[in-house]
Parts: sequence; structure tokens; C-alpha cells
Amino acid sequence: MNTPAHTTVMDLFRLDGNAALVTGASRGLGRALAIALAEAGADILAVDIGDLDQVAKEVRARGVHCATRTADLSNLTPDTAAELISWAKAELRPPTILVNNAGIIRRGPAIETPAADWSAVLDLNLTTPFLLSQAFAQAALDDNAAASIINIASINSFQGGMEVPSYAASKHGILGLTRALANEWAPQRIRVNAIAPGYMETEFTAAHREDPARAENMLRRIPAGTWGRPEDLAGAAVFLASAASAYVTGTALSVDGGWLSR
Ligand code: NAD
Repeated sequence: MNTPAHTTVMDLFRLDGNAALVTGASRGLGRALAIALAEAGADILAVDIGDLDQVAKEVRARGVHCATRTADLSNLTPDTAAELISWAKAELRPPTILVNNAGIIRRGPAIETPAADWSAVLDLNLTTPFLLSQAFAQAALDDNAAASIINIASINSFQGGMEVPSYAASKHGILGLTRALANEWAPQRIRVNAIAPGYMETEFTAAHREDPARAENMLRRIPAGTWGRPEDLAGAAVFLASAASAYVTGTALSVDGGWLSR
């Protein structure tokens, strides 16, 4: 992690001279996270199975570099994870920030959950962040560089939810992984934290928001009384990526309008 010469507290939040690899950057929370890190000065390596042209334009409009890679991040192996990190390094510079954001959800009663759905969710939401973190940390160790990993967790990292058994298991898992990796890598200055978003306005929650009865119920349960917007994660992401959080590791910062406190 390249830390700016510190003159004021605001400088601690700058990310100039760093590159951030953001998965699932094409839309939703990943797009907002990429733009936030770019506004703080980081070059962006955007990876997604979907189209990245639009987000690349938005990132470059912030005056930083953006490299894109269209890739299916499920069924990753240690070799393909390492290759992705090598690509990032060759394309821009060695990434010092990794945002494990790409994720999927499968809804339905546990009793009817197909094994294939279970595996697909655990694979992308938990195994992929592990393999990417492993390859990313190895590269940081090789360069003797400080680095920051941000895992996108969920309120379902703390609560079981209803009819989302694979998702809740994967998000509880990512919280455990965050803590385990943070403990191991703290001496090497590789910090590992999570952001736990509440109900955010993305395609992920479209089904909830489009059903008026369900939407009203949910909004009544959220202390802030509104859905979160993807931009609401910007401050948390820049904080956890930057020197402003130099002594913060192994934590989960919830950005949920108060949901978990209720
Ligand atoms: P989204 O569906 O809008 O975006 C997910 C992104 O991941 C998309 O760009 C998609 O193309 C990409 N992606 C999906 N499968 C992929 C694959 N196999 N390989 C590469 N990329 C793939 O969802 P979102 O709301 O932006 O969710 C992002 C993350 O935030 C997820 O991990 C999700 O669990 C988490 N989250 C979302 C909410 C919410 O309310 N929206 C709440 C808590 C946590």
C-alpha cells in the first residue's frame, strides 16, 4: 500500500499510487465501490462476467487508469487466481487493494434447495474470495507491500435470513474468512476487513422492492426507513482501503441503516 506523506487527516484517505482490483464491478455495489476508490485516487482493475465498458468510462472520468477483464469468477483454481493477479500487475501495477464483491443469491426453502445451487453460491461467494485473497496476498508478500482486502459480507453474515440457506452460509463464511486471514496476515501488513451492507437498491434486491407489501414490511424494519444506495458504501470502502484504517483489521463494518442494531 502506498501511503501518502501525511499532512492532514484527510490525506490519510487518499489512495493515489495504488491499484484496486474490484470483482463484480460492472453494476450495483461493485460499480459504486470502483468509482469511490477511483475518486480517492486509486487506479482500478475491474473484473466481471458482464460488460465493463460503462464503468471503465466512469472510472477514467475520475482521472485515474482503469483496466478491465471479462471473466467468470466461478470455478476459480489457485492457478487461474494467480493468473488474474499477474494480469493486474502487468496491466497497471501490482494491486494493493482487493475488493471481493462479486456474489450471487439463490432463494428458496432449504428443503428444496438443489445441491447445484448450494455449490454455485458457496463457490462464487466464498471459495472465489479465498482463492483471490490467497493469490493477492502472495503477490503482496513477494513485493513486501502493505495491502488491504475488503470482503463484501452482508447482514446475512450475522443473521440466517429466510429461505436463503446457501447465501447465509456463504456470508457467515466470508466473515469467518475475514477474521482468519486478518489474524494470519496482520504481521505482514495485509489487512482484511469486511463491509456488511443492508438492503441496497440493486438488481439483487429488485424482487423485494418491486413487491409493494414486502417492500413496506422491509422498510418498516429498517431504522433509517429507506433502502441503501450503492453510493452509501463509498465512505466505508475508502476508509477500509486507506491508511485511515491502518490499525483496523478483522472487522466488519455494517452499512445497513441500523438494521443489525434493531
Ligand atoms: P448485482 O447482482 O447487482 O451485482 C453483482 C455483480 O457480480 C454483477 O456485476 C455480476 O455480473 C457479477 N457477477 C455475478 N456472477 C459473476 C461471476 N460468476 N463472475 C464474475 N462476476 C460475476 O448485486 P449487488 O447488489 O451489487 O451485490 C454485490 C455484492 O454485495 C454481493 O456479494 C452481494 O452478496 C452483496 N450484498 C448485496 C446486498 C444488496 O442489498 N444489494 C446486500 C448485502 C450484500
